Amino acid sequence: MICYVGLGANLGERELTLRRAIERVKKIPATKLLRVSSFYETEPWGVTNQPKFLNAAIKISTDLEPLNLLDALQRIELELGRIRRERWGARTIDLDILLIDGREISTERLTVPHPLLFERDFALVPLKEIFPTLNCKLRGDKIIRATGSPTDFKFKLIACVDKNFGLGCGGKLLFKIPADLKNFRRLTLGHTIIYGRKTLQTFPNRRPLDGRRNIILSRTLEHSDGAEVVGGLEDLFGALNVAEDNFVIGGAEIFGELISYAAEIFLTVVNAEVAADTFFPRTDDFILRDVKTLDGFEFRRYTR
Ligand code: ATP
Ligand code: CA
Ligand code: CA
Repeated sequence: MICYVGLGANLGERELTLRRAIERVKKIPATKLLRVSSFYETEPWGVTNQPKFLNAAIKISTDLEPLNLLDALQRIELELGRIRRERWGARTIDLDILLIDGREISTERLTVPHPLLFERDFALVPLKEIFPTLNCKLRGDKIIRATGSPTDFKFKLIACVDKNFGLGCGGKLLFKIPADLKNFRRLTLGHTIIYGRKTLQTFPNRRPLDGRRNIILSRTLEHSDGAEVVGGLEDLFGALNVAEDNFVIGGAEIFGELISYAAEIFLTVVNAEVAADTFFPRTDDFILRDVKTLDGFEFRRYTR
């Protein structure tokens, strides 16, 4: 089931709290983060003598029952220091279920669609960004696009896969196609490439790639000549530049970490089925924009 969740924060380090909440949503069982909106600064609503809010919306898919999802979201609120004082009052983090598929739920603990969604521009503006076909009217409240969302980085994922989206086997890539390697080089040269420790092992001489800023995302690796090593997503966001093209190049785990924040995907799909033990994540939440068919493979480009 597809579900949209609204996030709000107006105490503490708001951007950091929103990013942390989003990272925790990723870890909810049977749940996948599909898409994240920009962050927006908004005026307090209902109780107006309090700091401004930062709001965002996310799209997830989950197999949890709605009430179990609410439990999981409320647990995240608590973990991030939410203290429930008054309704509509100041808070470090608020996570509201806005919509679930086309469903209507009306129980003591949960009402879906969220009862005040269509009265609140602060919820609708981020929601419409990731759900553009949503039919709703805005009131014209002051909502300012802010910085701090992981999607500000416009991550681009690039990979070569077989028909089943297989990426690798036994720590090796499935294919070495000269035209694909050339395309990879043309796209990434002069930009930033982000990859995991195991991907480094697949490079010539196990060395970072020349002509590009190399960033290795790894919790265990301490140092690598010619590359910067970051231990987690917060460190990665701190190291990156929003004006730069940030290519995420693998492996499967790193793609999984960053696909929900990505703006674009470049996939070379080889017309073959090969044994694989790692796979590129599902691209359901992207739109296939162009396909260029060549001998035995195709270049695909997806965007949101
Ligand atoms: P509002 O619900 O108007 O946005 P709020 O977010 O400040 O106000 P909370 O104190 O966070 O309110 O939540 C009060 C209760 O609302 C929760 O304990 C929860 O059981 C209930 N609730 C009902 N529907 C929803 C929903 N769609 N999403 C989240 N909570 C909901
Ligand atoms: Ca709320
Ligand atoms: Ca709430």
